[in-house]
Amino acid sequence: MRFDIITLFPEMFAAFLESGVTRRAYASGQVAVHLWNPRDYAQGNYRRVDDRPFGGGPGMVMMVEPLQHCLDAIRAARAEAGEVQPAPVLLFSPIGVTLKHEVVAQWSDSQGAVLLCGRYEGIDQRFIDKHVTHQVSLGDFVLSGGELAAMVMLDAIARLQPGVLNDEGSFQQDSFNPALDGMLDCPHYTRPEVWEGQEVPGALLSGHHANIERWRRDQRLRITASHRPELIDQARAQGLLNVKDEG
Ligand code: SAM
Repeated sequence: MRFDIITLFPEMFAAFLESGVTRRAYASGQVAVHLWNPRDYAQGNYRRVDDRPFGGGPGMVMMVEPLQHCLDAIRAARAEAGEVQPAPVLLFSPIGVTLKHEVVAQWSDSQGAVLLCGRYEGIDQRFIDKHVTHQVSLGDFVLSGGELAAMVMLDAIARLQPGVLNDEGSFQQDSFNPALDGMLDCPHYTRPEVWEGQEVPGALLSGHHANIERWRRDQRLRITASHRPELIDQARAQGLLNVKDEG
């Protein structure tokens, strides 16, 4: 799986790609990440990548030509690597679909994409109209750029890849995973057994596998019902919960 990221701030990705459990996925190429700066494809001494908006108003707009040359270079590199169909181009934008587990799962099972990180007031609409196939939002707020959104999505994708987490399949125990019927995760505890008078729940110390699993499932249901009741409704509608579960 290959992601080509168009960003005016490639240096933001350095620590991200080298940190934590997911770095293995990037280092091995299991989730290959290539960074491209449109400034390297801009004309003139100043290598200008932004200009004032037609119609006036505050801020600057990312210019279409450096983006087009940058995308041409990406397409050529991907073709040289053997790609037959042009990769989708995903723009991070408040307009997009909100990033949820289903969206992450869809991209984690793909050949990858070109990820476009906007800056300033955004990108010249003509480039979007010509090339962008998908738009993804992190939520109903405005970031200063798409880079953080790209890192969020890549991180969520990388941890779904086989062998990336230390415990094989442990992502299936995470919140929203279909393996747990889309519920939220249960609480976790580690040593000491008693801290400031608070004891670890007895079921977790019992050594009885079935009791531990029962306790965890009950906790997932309790927490999901209290924090995100609509997820219970969804699971029920899909026939994933039964009377025994909910009792
Ligand atoms: N003028 C734009 C608006 O009001 O929607 C905001 C532009 S924002 C300052 C610059 C860039 O940050 C955007 O082009 C987009 O790539 C990224 N961005 C901002 N908010 C985002 C969000 N909620 N989700 C994903 N990307 C976002």
